[in-house]
Amino acid sequence: MGILEEPIKEVKILKNYIDGEWVESQGEPKDVVNPATGKTIAKVPVSTEDELNEAIDAAKDAYPEWRRTTPLARARCLFRLKELMEENFEELSRIQTMEHGKTIDESRGETRRGIENVEVATGIPSLMMGCNLEDIASGIDEYLIRQPLGVFGIIAPFNFPFMVPLWFAPYAVATGNCIVMKPSSEVPLTQLRVAELAEEAGIPPGVWNVVNGGRTVVSGLLDHPDIKGICFVGSTPTGKNVVYKRCGETGKRVIAACGAKNFLVVMPDAILDKTIAALMTSIYGNAGQRCLAGANIIIVGEDKVFYKQFREAFIEAASKIRVGYGLDESVQMGPVRDTEKKERIVSYIEKGIKEGAKLTLDGRKINIIGDYPHSCFLNPTLFEEVNPDMTIAKEEIFGPVASFMKAKTLDEAIEMIHDNPFGNSACIFTQSGKWAREFQYNVTCGNIGINVGVAAPMAFFPFSGMKDSFFGVLHPQGQEVIRFFTESKVVIQRWL
Ligand code: NAD
Repeated sequence: MGILEEPIKEVKILKNYIDGEWVESQGEPKDVVNPATGKTIAKVPVSTEDELNEAIDAAKDAYPEWRRTTPLARARCLFRLKELMEENFEELSRIQTMEHGKTIDESRGETRRGIENVEVATGIPSLMMGCNLEDIASGIDEYLIRQPLGVFGIIAPFNFPFMVPLWFAPYAVATGNCIVMKPSSEVPLTQLRVAELAEEAGIPPGVWNVVNGGRTVVSGLLDHPDIKGICFVGSTPTGKNVVYKRCGETGKRVIAACGAKNFLVVMPDAILDKTIAALMTSIYGNAGQRCLAGANIIIVGEDKVFYKQFREAFIEAASKIRVGYGLDESVQMGPVRDTEKKERIVSYIEKGIKEGAKLTLDGRKINIIGDYPHSCFLNPTLFEEVNPDMTIAKEEIFGPVASFMKAKTLDEAIEMIHDNPFGNSACIFTQSGKWAREFQYNVTCGNIGINVGVAAPMAFFPFSGMKDSFFGVLHPQGQEVIRFFTESKVVIQRWL
């Protein structure tokens, strides 16, 4: 099959979007490299603190008028934004594949899930409603109103360039706040295209700003007194030790959705073909670079025949996964984002071998479709005989590496999940309602799948997370994020 047309044709130095203007940065530009082809596709500036401060000032200045714009008028801008995203759906998806590496189908799925957040945010007149109660005392009524706070910072990870920032941005502006977004400098192109669409949709200057960069921009957002809250998605060390800690010190609201180590529990009554199909997507989809990616597979019970059938079916399916450039529609797994990430994953494979796990599929042996440099590619990897104390079972690898583990009972499996420091997601494969209920009741993870391998909540549900996977109280998406972006004011009125 051929390669789809690439939407990015020339290498440009990317600009910041501040106060409705496309502004050149004084910061040093860094290459953005397509991980499949190895070609530079853009240069992204590392913006300075002054540039960030300009964006925050613009957002602060835009806030009073935007806040007074009626919720219905704000929603109309989002309806237009949604339409523009639909019109540019394929281009947005292909940009994601070019800058991130995921397959075009994965990118299209991501675009759909991102747009759904814009759709949900268009319901803001209802979502933002307060409540009231008459006669709290004789002739006295009480009511609650929700108001925006001002300017919010959004700090994004590399693995979902389109969707993750949209867990926040549409809701923030719908509620009457203004935003300063810092995309991941590894994948900045998609969000800059989104900002162009936001501009075209009529979102006024200063309401939606994008500043490219790295740590300087993050520290600036965390420290600036005019930033009322931070939405962060990324790794646990950054989320916990930098973002959550600093927001506590500066008194900002915070959502910090962090790293993961997700478990897939296969019960002896699981339907084999459906389970294997779900596991392949969960573990190897997005080349394992998904916060909901399954990594530890616990096979429950002592049925040796079931184990043998399961492992054979798993190995056969994983070996057949077609790896290559995501703009080839026949490809099922793309490269990982960059060489540094690949080296990190390879170092975990080496650790697994050293700690005594059995390497059944070695993804370091590269077999790809097409003639591309091998620098960011890996093939599906599988370890067997993994125990919970091994590094590969404990830490987030964030690559296409699966570990088979065994448990005698469901209770033992739940205990293993509980002992892992992360709590993002866990899935069970079973036909038993009793086991499924027991699992969802007891497991210490935020996003649960029952016969589903990627337990990604829809835009109208919160994207949850527990333990070292989440810091904060309110979660991204839906009604919870509306509460995050608003403060409640309670009014008591005596009728004279
Ligand atoms: P990361 O923590 O390296 O980077 C996230 C953001 O923080 C980026 O914008 C980056 O520029 C900035 N940053 C990185 N290090 C920093 C530092 N020391 N000081 C200040 N800013 C810093 O994460 P990543 O590699 O881009 O993303 C992958 C991680 O995100 C994985 O751990 C994955 O599990 C997690 N993730 C979690 C969720 C979730 O919902 N829980 C969703 C997507 C990704």
